[in-house]
Amino acid sequence: MKHIKASGLITLPGLMVSLLCLLSCEGTIEEEAPDFTDGSWVAYSPYKWTHDGFPVEGKYCKLYSDRVERDAREELVEYADRQFSDIMSMFNFTAVDDFLYPPGNTKIEVNLSLDNDPDIAAAFWGSVLMKVRNERPDTNLLRYVLRHELTHAFEYLIEGTPELGTDVWFREGLAVYYASNGSWNSMNSVDNLEAYRDDHEDHANKGNPISIHEWEDFPEGSDIPRYYTLFDLVIKYIISPDGLGKSSVELLNIVYEIREGVLFESAFYDQVQITLIDFESEIFPRLLQFLDQ
Ligand SMILES: [Zn+2]
Repeated sequence: MKHIKASGLITLPGLMVSLLCLLSCEGTIEEEAPDFTDGSWVAYSPYKWTHDGFPVEGKYCKLYSDRVERDAREELVEYADRQFSDIMSMFNFTAVDDFLYPPGNTKIEVNLSLDNDPDIAAAFWGSVLMKVRNERPDTNLLRYVLRHELTHAFEYLIEGTPELGTDVWFREGLAVYYASNGSWNSMNSVDNLEAYRDDHEDHANKGNPISIHEWEDFPEGSDIPRYYTLFDLVIKYIISPDGLGKSSVELLNIVYEIREGVLFESAFYDQVQITLIDFESEIFPRLLQFLDQ
């Protein structure tokens, strides 16, 4: 029996909040016998979303929908391809032949649905599921969430697995950072970070972002979107010249090591040269110093 988890998000900087709900799409199911004829989301996600049988293929993505207008699909799949290409170039990544797709798949299957439930955006191995609000979705409104989920989809294709091996703080940090081109600045000052720490003083983990290794590590009642602002900041800290001065290549190397069976904490140490335990205990002083420059 295998438990499958969505690596999905749902964090929405600013403008997006009114468009999509803030459900956690975390879900576990008992895996059933895979049925590849119905699409990878059926085999590797707990959500058995349906479509109308008229997908449109792009270069990297294949777009499915139930009610998005047929003549809008070409443009949408091209848009998804462009976003995915952009994410790959942010990682300096060109080795698309390295991707490990689910059996039978050669593209990321993106299902933009009006009628399927629940109300989520989520990524799985080889697929992205996103609820949309109308039959001609506005790409400007889809942009952040689509890029966030495509960043997860990218990680899945490097690892080639139904379940990601990175820590939650790391994979969600990547998804927020690369979705927003590194420009999401909601946790951008010492004052902001001090206010966050004050608000988490009574929490057992003191709001420490690196303590969120698994979904279960979020303390009861956590403001998860607020944690995402820290996850994003940690990624910025790792790759900024004013922080640890690593690069997207080193971040991607962590994911590649996991593909080879290395545990996240070892891969993190190999690429960042700080143990995860030290990083967790030192994270607030490090971030405060980073923001104070
Ligand atoms: Zn996410």
